Amino acid sequence: MLQKYSLKPNDAILAEESHMPLYDDLLSRKHALIAGGAAQNTARGAQYILPADSVLYIGCVGQDEYAEKLRSACAAAGLRVEYRVDDTQPTGRCGVVITGNNRSLCTHLAAANEYKMEHLKSPKIWDLVQKAKFYYVGGFHLTVCVPAVMALAEEAAAHPDKVFVMNLSAPFIAQFFKQQLEDTSPYWDYVIGNETEAAAWAEAQGGDVKGKSVPEIAMHMAGLKKVNEGRKRTVVITQGTESTVVAVQGEEKVREYPVRTIAKEEIYDTNGAGDAFAGGFVAGIVEGKSLEESVDMGQWLARLSIKELGPQFPSPKQTY
Ligand code: ADP
Ligand code: MG
Ligand code: MG
Repeated sequence: MLQKYSLKPNDAILAEESHMPLYDDLLSRKHALIAGGAAQNTARGAQYILPADSVLYIGCVGQDEYAEKLRSACAAAGLRVEYRVDDTQPTGRCGVVITGNNRSLCTHLAAANEYKMEHLKSPKIWDLVQKAKFYYVGGFHLTVCVPAVMALAEEAAAHPDKVFVMNLSAPFIAQFFKQQLEDTSPYWDYVIGNETEAAAWAEAQGGDVKGKSVPEIAMHMAGLKKVNEGRKRTVVITQGTESTVVAVQGEEKVREYPVRTIAKEEIYDTNGAGDAFAGGFVAGIVEGKSLEESVDMGQWLARLSIKELGPQFPSPKQTY
């Protein structure tokens, strides 16, 4: 499969024309179909912890069987979804070729790229937006519909009690969508990312912060200009098995929370660990838990997800 589609054993790419037959090819072999989408994984993760009907996910799908599969996976997780349904593109898919411990990801965004402002601002959806108290946006969405991201950011800033959380999502967002990311930064109450995303952000910023350590980068991010000055910004950088670094605006030192390692034989798939961490962390924030406990909830949910194939959580439900 790797040779046939010119894929590297360990990689994550966007599909080109030559990759299009990959998906049906995979489906004709031994396979598993798993609901994905980084922010949707995080939404399922937060709902895994929070009381019923706490989380609503908004995105875009096509008119096909895959949209139905996503709907039923989210329904099973108790996650409410309000999808814009695009009539030109199929539902986005990510093909994963697993060889031993290596995995090659090939994403065809398709309908995921077609989210539109009209959907967000439609009376039914905007009413739901206004009722929400916490907003979480994946950095990936900055490649799709920036006005929708900004609308949520501004809605949060207009109400001092509302919270806006952004995830950096991938190094290429900070590299190639620098301006879009920068437009959102004054609205970040919380920003979550991993070590390579933090480094890519610092690299793209240039100047003093370029090439700095993760704690220094986190401090720098925390100190950026902020619209809602009533709430201090919190920056959370995960580093795989290394400690999670948290910088709070105005504090002189970062806080570091070590990761509890799990036995090698218990690790099934680290794919989506960061999405799960974000789900657990945000659930903690929503429940009003301390920063320390919220980080621990993120690490706990990430550990559960690592023991499953892909971004899944164990059933029957485990409680934190
Ligand atoms: P991403 O998936 O975005 O690269 P990380 O690799 O930083 O994110 O992982 C997110 C979190 O998942 C970590 O902070 C940690 O809590 C948990 N995690 C990741 N890998 C492991 C591991 N091998 N053992 C235990 N926890 C892990
Ligand atoms: Mg990682
Ligand atoms: Mg991640």
